[in-house]
Amino acid sequence: MNQEIFLCSICNINSGTCLEDCKFCSQSVRYKADIERYKQKEIALIEQEAINARDNGALGFCLVTADKGLNDKTLKFVCDVAEAVTKVAPELRLIACNGTATLAQLLTLKSAGIKAYNHNLETSEQFYKEICTTHPWSERYETCQNVNKAGLTLITGGIFGLGETQADRVSMLESLASLNPTSVPINFYHHNVALELEPNSLTVDEALALIKLTRESIPNTQRIMVAGGRELMFGERQNEIFDAGANSIVIGNYLTTAGREMHKDLEMLKSLNLQVAKKV
Ligand code: SF4
Repeated sequence: MNQEIFLCSICNINSGTCLEDCKFCSQSVRYKADIERYKQKEIALIEQEAINARDNGALGFCLVTADKGLNDKTLKFVCDVAEAVTKVAPELRLIACNGTATLAQLLTLKSAGIKAYNHNLETSEQFYKEICTTHPWSERYETCQNVNKAGLTLITGGIFGLGETQADRVSMLESLASLNPTSVPINFYHHNVALELEPNSLTVDEALALIKLTRESIPNTQRIMVAGGRELMFGERQNEIFDAGANSIVIGNYLTTAGREMHKDLEMLKSLNLQVAKKV
């Protein structure tokens, strides 16, 4: 196999403070999950994480905040972080993931050095009401449209294993395709005991089939990224995600769960004769 794999690292620059009620999310204050919670991570620490990600081959570095969307204070913080990271690791392509965003807010992020914006549709429009009652799916879709209007690279995907039907998955993939995203992150629900959702019941074969379906449903996207839940979902069979159609992974830790050490992913790629992409 001679394929390039794009590596991305995510950084929770604010954690566990969200007032929304997304049932799959341990960052909601409503569920009292046993996770680290803070308003703003120290910029020096974020810079160190960025340097570490770059040194391990990451091209993308994603600044994530746990909230429904941006307010003036959060917007300023994300811009300050973007400017600081650009100084210490200019090779990284900066991504912001800050929830609902207006066109004006996205343009402000762009002027601070953000190149791409990640906002997931999460699931189908119909099923979304079952997993979130505090904001509508349409807001998510509109933010993705704003990202396209702002001329930022659109990263949008979803999460499998929430109890959705196959028809919901197909519907979500059709919605994603209609937004013409450059990258599609797919997550597999990682259960936390504080959450009321049942644990993800997908089998590894079903999850691999969903990667394949995502690739087939959104043929024009440059990257299918397997993001949260990779280690838990695929275990010893993680190497099979690339044959199924993935060409991007998140390395390092996720938002509230630990990923495996970055060097183990690099070793896996080497053993599969897969190259780490050096540019987007
Ligand atoms: S809006 Fe985002 S951070 Fe808040 S509960 Fe939902 S998924 Fe979690």
